[in-house]
Amino acid sequence: MIRFLLSFAVVGTGLLVWNLPSGHGRQLLIDGSPRLMTLFIFVPLLSAWITLGAALYVRPTRLFNTKAPPKLVQVFLGFSSGLVSMILAVCGTVLLDRTLGDIPIMILSSIIGTSVIVRLSRTIRPGHCARCDYDLRSSIAFGRCPECGLAL
Ligand SMILES: [Zn+2]
Repeated sequence: MIRFLLSFAVVGTGLLVWNLPSGHGRQLLIDGSPRLMTLFIFVPLLSAWITLGAALYVRPTRLFNTKAPPKLVQVFLGFSSGLVSMILAVCGTVLLDRTLGDIPIMILSSIIGTSVIVRLSRTIRPGHCARCDYDLRSSIAFGRCPECGLAL
């Protein structure tokens, strides 16, 4: 999960850094660096963390199982979630800035972005290998997945 969250945070940091060269950004950096860090990094990260935790609690997926986590895929998923969240946040800010504050927009975008991406990753089906999804119901006695060798 940490890989996912770190990659997620990279996108927020990127957006923050990208905002800095503009005069607006520079002014914000001087006045409210802690506020910006909160808005672009901490708030989205916390929302993504809670969303991911809740999603995995309800529905464990192969991509976040503890036995055989595919590390690069988690990085990619985190990055994608971050990207989707930030795109939503930018759209949300343009559309809803007057009705909602920045922080609720960030929270909502991160929740949606994370859920969408996690939703796309596949569930661990009961009786199937957590890594390769091989049907283990007839080979559970071997103690390993005959397809990929993962210890059961
Ligand atoms: Zn397997």
